[in-house]
Amino acid sequence: VLSTDEKELIKQKLLTKILRTEENISDLKELTKPISPENAIGRISRMDAINNKSVNEATLRNAKQKLVQLERSLMELDSDSFGLCGYCGKSIELPKLLVMPENKLCVSCVKAKIN
Ligand SMILES: [Zn+2]
Repeated sequence: VLSTDEKELIKQKLLTKILRTEENISDLKELTKPISPENAIGRISRMDAINNKSVNEATLRNAKQKLVQLERSLMELDSDSFGLCGYCGKSIELPKLLVMPENKLCVSCVKAKIN
């Protein structure tokens, strides 16, 4: 069970991350704007631009997902189940919660998932 201080630390961390992710999303939105065909940048550079655009679109999707997870974690912060592994129910170590507060799995379950 997390103490009030620990929750406050995690809350600050989440708020910082949410802010950073929102900035990231607005940058990526700028980068994924439609490429106008009249942009006289040549065929090759245009293909480059389109490739970069799809990479940025994928990054944008991930960033949006991350933002949803972060906001959900912030809402769940006061619930009893916060900080418990979503798979095995054991409490997640505080250092790990501070690095990735949106994380819902403990170390062993993450490893089990990867393998
Ligand atoms: Zn677990």
